[in-house]
Amino acid sequence: MSAMDVNDDYQDDMLDCDDDIVDDEPDYDSDGMDDEDDDDEEDDFDAADGFAPVIADKDVKKAYEVEFLVHSTDEIIEFQNKEIAHVAGILGCLPEHAATMLRQFKWNKERLIERYMEDPEGESEKAGVVVDTKKQPRFTVVNKFECPICCSDEEGLETLALSCGHRFCRDCYEAYLNEKIAQQGESRRIQCMEAGCRLVVDEKTVEMVVSPKVYEKYRNLLLRTFVDDSAHLKWCPAPDCIYAIECHVPQSALDEIVPTVKCKCSNQFCFGCTLPDHQPCICRLVRLWLKKCADDSETANWISANTKECTKCNSTIEKNGGCNHMTCKKCKYEFCWVCLGPWSEHGTQWYNCNRFDEKASVDARDAQAKSRAALERYLHYYNRYANHEQSAKLSSDLLQKTAQKMEALQSTSTLSWIEVQFLRKAVDVLLESRMTLKWTYSFAYYLKRDNMTALFEDNQRDLEVAVESLNELLERPIPGVADGVQAVNGHMGVEESIRDLRQQVLDKMGYVKSRREVLLTDTAQGLKEHRWKLNVDFKTGDMLD
Ligand SMILES: [Zn+2]
Ligand SMILES: [Zn+2]
Ligand SMILES: [Zn+2]
Ligand SMILES: [Zn+2]
Ligand SMILES: [Zn+2]
Ligand SMILES: [Zn+2]
Repeated sequence: MSAMDVNDDYQDDMLDCDDDIVDDEPDYDSDGMDDEDDDDEEDDFDAADGFAPVIADKDVKKAYEVEFLVHSTDEIIEFQNKEIAHVAGILGCLPEHAATMLRQFKWNKERLIERYMEDPEGESEKAGVVVDTKKQPRFTVVNKFECPICCSDEEGLETLALSCGHRFCRDCYEAYLNEKIAQQGESRRIQCMEAGCRLVVDEKTVEMVVSPKVYEKYRNLLLRTFVDDSAHLKWCPAPDCIYAIECHVPQSALDEIVPTVKCKCSNQFCFGCTLPDHQPCICRLVRLWLKKCADDSETANWISANTKECTKCNSTIEKNGGCNHMTCKKCKYEFCWVCLGPWSEHGTQWYNCNRFDEKASVDARDAQAKSRAALERYLHYYNRYANHEQSAKLSSDLLQKTAQKMEALQSTSTLSWIEVQFLRKAVDVLLESRMTLKWTYSFAYYLKRDNMTALFEDNQRDLEVAVESLNELLERPIPGVADGVQAVNGHMGVEESIRDLRQQVLDKMGYVKSRREVLLTDTAQGLKEHRWKLNVDFKTGDMLD
């Protein structure tokens, strides 16, 4: 199966949308791309070390990179308010009503305006708004009123009704809104209290009824839904992060590209599925793989060693006694553990098992071998995947040791603070590459073997060799620094040997970076060209032959 059924025009979408933003909201993206700061830092660093960037022009996107912007909460609020004001102006209604309708249309203002122009009453009714009213609901005292909920009818009772006219007392309204907002976390579509009435309580009314604290929570909930409902916006999934990312790669393009974005908080994640960066593996395969690992990985090794599959229904059978007469729990088929032939042909005694060449036994063993091969194949990829994950987890250790080394380097040599940063940078490159390698194994598991996969595996191997070599170098104690010995490497002094080591690390780091870039560029181009043939049914997760 190939990943071909996706549209090709997301890049056009992207350009259109960007143009829109530039034309309509000149301030919206005025702060430019997120990684500006990082790049500056990197440029300085590279320049200091005589490193030429692989692609000199930073504006040229690599095949595996996508355009994105990072927005603060304030920018998101501003953008949301501009959208509301814009639509309110066109429809000639109150901003709070425009907001309710925009939420109904998931912030697709073009569609809202188009539909509204065709059928103003129908669309506003669906959204739960009475648009033509310019009157805000107010607290009023109504003579001889009895609240339908709490039955209070005391004199001077404050009451409230939306434009539908369903009237309740102030306390009941406040209790209702508190429950919806604070308890249930609702914001978008809190409706009139009257059963069956679909009118939405607008923002102004909520502000009037609830306490400032609850109102603030309500505003935050609304803001979250604004981002959640906007196809091109996503909150950074890092805990407590306040930034949202804007990216115009649509869901329909996710078989062709892995849209990796980087937040200002330095969290790098996939815009498509918000999982941590999983290049070069596409989102759908990542989901299948993670599910498979959760289901299978712990037991797969054990299964491989201690079980066989029923030769009839393929369910896994564990041999837990000495007897070779096996009965499948699922389909009740009886067979021989040793030759896998049907038990019925064995007579009543196992020592009659001399039927190795019987057709039934041979077929059964072939089937078993095939199923074993599938399991072994999975374990091959899983173990390598898990190994990189494990190595990356041990990285906090490496980071700590590296920090110590950096301090030691500064005190033993004439290297400046900026000059010892190469170590931290090298660890970052190492970890990033381990993540990439990890996902190459998941990707490879789902690849159908052909001459394209051979090239992929070459790239994978080259990166792996480079990564292990860099890792080894980084874990090696620095001569003359860790042990306090002054003269090392024969004639070389400490200063000289440190400068030598630094050059080695820089060289290896540069090599790892370039290998990673080669691998990611090739896989990304392959995805765009539909060059990779997959061996999995996306719907069922079953492997195809
Ligand atoms: Zn009441
Ligand atoms: Zn009502
Ligand atoms: Zn973040
Ligand atoms: Zn993803
Ligand atoms: Zn069975
Ligand atoms: Zn037998």
